[in-house]
Amino acid sequence: MQLTKKIRIYPTEEQVDVLWELSEKCRIVYNFALADRKDTWTSDKRSVKYTEQQNKLPDFKKRNPEFKSVYSKTYQGILKKLEGSYNSFFGHIKNGNKKARPPNFKGRNYLMTIPYNQSGFIIFRGYISFSHSVNDTELIFDIGNLADGLKVKQAEIVNDNPYKARGKFYICLTYEIDVEDTYFDNGNYQAIDLGITKIVTAINSEGKFFEVKTPRPDNYWNQKIDTAKSRRDHCIGKKKGSTKSRRFLRIARTVTKMSRKKANQVKDFQHKLSRKMVENTKANTIIVGDLSVQQMAQPKVKDGKKEKKTKQKKGLNRSTQGLGNLGRFVQFLTYKAELIGKHVIRIDEKNTSKKCCYCGKKHNMPTYERVMSCDCGNNIDRDRNSSINIMVRYLSQNALWTGYQQFVDNLRQYRLPDGIEVFNTEAK
Ligand SMILES: [Zn+2]
Repeated sequence: MQLTKKIRIYPTEEQVDVLWELSEKCRIVYNFALADRKDTWTSDKRSVKYTEQQNKLPDFKKRNPEFKSVYSKTYQGILKKLEGSYNSFFGHIKNGNKKARPPNFKGRNYLMTIPYNQSGFIIFRGYISFSHSVNDTELIFDIGNLADGLKVKQAEIVNDNPYKARGKFYICLTYEIDVEDTYFDNGNYQAIDLGITKIVTAINSEGKFFEVKTPRPDNYWNQKIDTAKSRRDHCIGKKKGSTKSRRFLRIARTVTKMSRKKANQVKDFQHKLSRKMVENTKANTIIVGDLSVQQMAQPKVKDGKKEKKTKQKKGLNRSTQGLGNLGRFVQFLTYKAELIGKHVIRIDEKNTSKKCCYCGKKHNMPTYERVMSCDCGNNIDRDRNSSINIMVRYLSQNALWTGYQQFVDNLRQYRLPDGIEVFNTEAK
């Protein structure tokens, strides 16, 4: 399995100059390759593949010898990145996301991420050194013991705010670890419904629920960020294009700092929660409803016109985007589970929140509707309803009938005394 590690580095001014020089060459190659893809598409209606572009590299360098200052495999990494962006763009299109845009050309002020694949860098006694031939300045950085014993496959030099390299510099190491696949189906399952207000609603084969409310560091930060942004925007000069005042720049820096802190807190929480979840469950198989967060955040189109954004709707959009990292949460779950011999399986979650888990009747469930009340007497929290449906769907799709029977039997224990069958009495 491949994991990545991000290490902060502190390049000197001379080193930053070298990075800009490398970035510039990479940027030109990137823009050429992008133009090539776009042109081929317009003229031949054909998409260019990575290998095709890679094969053009040697000839390109022969004609433009100044491009030899960059380590040769770095260009391949750049082309691979472009292919990656295109693949994700096509994925969005396939999912019906109309807002998806193809990759953009990179401007002169943009510091490219510089990838080193397999070779071109060396890690030795707490230092990492990258090869280049721009000038004599060595690209060598102190990384302490953070890479000790790792089988590093790839290293990248990144700036987290690439525009004018305003952010912090990092090295991202991709390393390989051997994980013995010790997975076996132990008859215990856990189904998880992911949501906005409750990040996790899980149910296990025993019919027990596990719920985690989403902590909202973003609420705290959003307010502060909004105030700061409005103060910042009052500092804009009246003339268009006038230089920004020192006060403007100072507040802008604060805004960046706060946004970064917000993002880090959310990420940290996701790391901790996913780890706890995979470690504390008896289940070897964890089932997650495959979600498209993008769709959740899109405004509904009514009669061809976009619905007016009410305050509530805006709040919801912000929370899905702010914590729209639910996809990332699933990735965390997946790799952390694999590390300890468990599997995370994604299944289609279509209609799992609409169908009554007891009688199967479909209900119209707008997101603000927190409880599903069905004619059959089922009265259940919407997320719990979904998690049951996800579990049932997985077990029946895979014909795990023993597990299915056990699960349903366990759920029946929640039957209410007055004859109304409700899977769960706690839901209000
Ligand atoms: Zn029902």
